[in-house]
Amino acid sequence: MKDTIFKIIGIFRGLLITMKYFFKRPITLRYPEEKRKLPARSRGRHYLTKWDDGLERCVGCELCAIVCPSQAIYVKPASNDPEKPHSHGERYASDFQINMLRCIYCGYCEEACPTGAIILSNEYELSGYTRESMIFTKDTLTEKNPGDSGRDPHREI
Ligand code: SF4
Ligand code: SF4
Repeated sequence: MKDTIFKIIGIFRGLLITMKYFFKRPITLRYPEEKRKLPARSRGRHYLTKWDDGLERCVGCELCAIVCPSQAIYVKPASNDPEKPHSHGERYASDFQINMLRCIYCGYCEEACPTGAIILSNEYELSGYTRESMIFTKDTLTEKNPGDSGRDPHREI
């Protein structure tokens, strides 16, 4: 008898908890239709940004690769052709890769970059079927038009 009473009390306690949350706003989202807005300084997918004139900010200095604690960045510098430069510096990155599987999103690369070329956006939906697809190339990383990544193309650093 005592056991039955405890069981009934347990059921009512469970129902009370259900009722308590029934009229509250849900804390869950209907992902992926609804996406959580992350704080402005959250760190996600990288972008290589451009100046407002369309030239690449990256000057191939390799500081980001040196500072990266996961050794996730590969930069291959090359000299600019003065007739058709890629960047405002003497050099540019002829190849730039980030292994997103190694990256720990510490943001050191962004901190170290002297030209503000590399940024970590707040895009967090990163996935792939193969390891190779998670090695982002310069083409994938570079924003198509100045400002596409959300960074002001006029901003100095
Ligand atoms: S965020 Fe950190 S781990 Fe990722 S590439 Fe930049 S420096 Fe390396
Ligand atoms: S992204 Fe910045 S730190 Fe990295 S190579 Fe380019 S200019 Fe240098």
